[in-house]
Amino acid sequence: MHIVTTIAGSDSGGGAGIQADLKTFQELNVFGTSVITALTAQNTLGVSDVLPIDTIFIEKQFHALLEDFSISALKTGMLFSSEIIQAIANIMADLDIPLIIDPVMIAKGGESLLQQQAIEAMRYYLLPLATVITPNIPEAEVLTGKKVDDIASIQQAAQTLLQLGTRCVVIKGGHLTDENFATDYVFFKDGRAFSMQTTRIATKNTHGTGCTFSAALAAFIGRELPIDSAVVEAKKFIQLAITHDLSIGNGHGPTNHFAYRKY
Ligand code: PLP
Repeated sequence: MHIVTTIAGSDSGGGAGIQADLKTFQELNVFGTSVITALTAQNTLGVSDVLPIDTIFIEKQFHALLEDFSISALKTGMLFSSEIIQAIANIMADLDIPLIIDPVMIAKGGESLLQQQAIEAMRYYLLPLATVITPNIPEAEVLTGKKVDDIASIQQAAQTLLQLGTRCVVIKGGHLTDENFATDYVFFKDGRAFSMQTTRIATKNTHGTGCTFSAALAAFIGRELPIDSAVVEAKKFIQLAITHDLSIGNGHGPTNHFAYRKY
């Protein structure tokens, strides 16, 4: 049994964060474990409060897993502060385990899931340790400090991020203005690149999309798929999860974690 770990925040509403990650891991037949970095009081309407976990206790969770389990892949989600990022990076630096970084910054409702001062820590301490980084367009813009709105700027942003040391960058194009398609762009350190185009689905129920995609990617990499196949399969997982979205709650409902198995 492959063991995969998510290092992320809790979403009490169950559609994003730790909860989305563990549901995705379960659906993809890997044993999910977690290091919780923050609690959010949250539902489909938004985040009403955030409680970061003490960094000492975050380290204790991580060490508890490392002492006992042979972990096949790790992913990070909401890391909230530079202290938390540094604590995670310090431990990660000594490990040789594939790391998928979803550079989570803001929730759909606009609430901050990463403090402004933490962006530099993310760039300098954590991103160089990544195997794959999965920014959406706004995150790619913040991480590179440049506008990203067409193919040339996407390529440029990917090169900037690859230079930090990661093996692969997936720039998720869901925020681009194409009305018909959602296209993700995949770039490798060795120069390979490809894009993945799917039909854009008109739904407001996309809560947790980024978390779920990166969790699926971590699960497939944990199952030892090559990175390119893992990215394609994770895209399939999220496309099905959005297609069969769940109308739960009164706001942005969650994607459907059951869909990959069911359809
Ligand atoms: N809450 C937590 C704990 C998250 O990790 C994330 C996303 O990464 C979100 C909320 C935001 O999800 P969304 O923007 O899809 O609503």
